[in-house]
Amino acid sequence: MPDQLHIYNSLTRKKELFEPLNPPHVGLYVCGPTVYSDVHLGNVRSFLSFDIVYRYLCHLGYKVRYVRNITDVGHLVDDADEGEDKIAKKARLEALEPMEIVQKYTNGFHKIMRLMNIIDPSIEPQATGHIIDQIEMVKRIIDNGFAYEVNGSVYFDVEKYSQQYHYGELSGRVIEDMQESGRDLDSQDEKRNKIDFAIWKNADASHIMRWPSPWGDGFPGWHLECSVMSTKYLGKTFDIHGGGMDLKFPHHECEIAQSVAADGTAPVKYWMHGGMLNFEGKKMSKSLGNSILPEEMINGDSPLLDKPYSPMTIRFLMLQTHYASEIDFSNKALQDAEKALRRLTNALKTVEKLPFVEGKIDEEKETTIKALCHECSEHMNDDFNTAKTIAALFGLATQINTFKDAGGKVTGISNDTFELLKSTYATFILEVLGLKEESTGDQSVLNDVMSILIDIRNTARAQKDWATSDTIRNRLSEANIIINDNKDGQTTFEIG
Ligand SMILES: [Zn+2]
Repeated sequence: MPDQLHIYNSLTRKKELFEPLNPPHVGLYVCGPTVYSDVHLGNVRSFLSFDIVYRYLCHLGYKVRYVRNITDVGHLVDDADEGEDKIAKKARLEALEPMEIVQKYTNGFHKIMRLMNIIDPSIEPQATGHIIDQIEMVKRIIDNGFAYEVNGSVYFDVEKYSQQYHYGELSGRVIEDMQESGRDLDSQDEKRNKIDFAIWKNADASHIMRWPSPWGDGFPGWHLECSVMSTKYLGKTFDIHGGGMDLKFPHHECEIAQSVAADGTAPVKYWMHGGMLNFEGKKMSKSLGNSILPEEMINGDSPLLDKPYSPMTIRFLMLQTHYASEIDFSNKALQDAEKALRRLTNALKTVEKLPFVEGKIDEEKETTIKALCHECSEHMNDDFNTAKTIAALFGLATQINTFKDAGGKVTGISNDTFELLKSTYATFILEVLGLKEESTGDQSVLNDVMSILIDIRNTARAQKDWATSDTIRNRLSEANIIINDNKDGQTTFEIG
């Protein structure tokens, strides 16, 4: 297992040693949301994957500039060059200004990101704030001979580009196949070739979102904004570019082509792509009727859910799978994750409280704990393998619980190893995986209710009414509340 960070690079299709261009600085760009509707669970997973990348790079001591954009113009309904702008369409349907739509869904997106404990990027640029830079890039591409203007729209000349460079190097697609399978679109008569894509679209007066340009009023193509904003803030070539697997083609393929055509340089050293998310074995989609919004999952507000699930349960379940693999959500998986996470966080509280007592060193225990601590880093170094890191943390939780059960103190290991155990366990759970402690409601109300129940149970026991006392204990146990009858005669409870 690697001592240094290795990243699976989608461009080379290999796991590579991570060597930043400009250490200790790292440039990280992630495609952000198109803010025309609520962010869905699959998006959350993608942003979470890159939150882990950001957190771990910071943990390794890198100074990371993390840019994640907001797409507020240019993303058309069918993802290609046709149809209405997604935001303009929603504005029309809701009878709002496009910027009201943008603000509404940007706010909603930020709210979900914070609930999920996903750290804000260093810069969150908006496409509409970079129209001049986008026009400049279109000009450079035209000047270099890789784009042409027709009726006020500008198209990227894929065939011309491919004579000199490799269009398809990221996605592995072959240009001839793309030509065969490409759809015939309305703007086909304007394009020299059906695989050409718009980098600037002409827009008549019926469009609210349009800007003046050397080619007349219009708006930028969706792929263009990411090329412009990533290189503006991170340099013409930067370290890591991330996004969901669905963005690899055409979006990211086009980003590479645009940067090479405009500036002659490949924009990105390491491309990373996150896997998709399913629910109960099926792709989540509105048309299949199995789409659940993150907020609905947190509130339990969906007929598909048995109960609400906390943001950290959702986060934990996502992290139990490697970021590039497909993940399957289900009520069972969520409920298992809830229990497993509780076991992990309970052990964190335990290890913080346990006293250390010097004693004879148990070499086997000492070696096991050190190895598990080391494994946490090794697995993260292996292309951010959170799933295996979590397995190592469970190994540590077992060790912590063994100390708790065997006399409630830590002994048999050196003080250094105990400190290593404590710091590794807390750092990986809280900082690297970002699994923050969640309050389980109003503790004082819970305490009051529990003291009433314990009184009723004690009265029942005093009257030898075992049926009632057992019912109370069993029902509480079903709700994960464990009653302890202590030796000193006191009854206490803990959340299991
Ligand atoms: Zn993008």
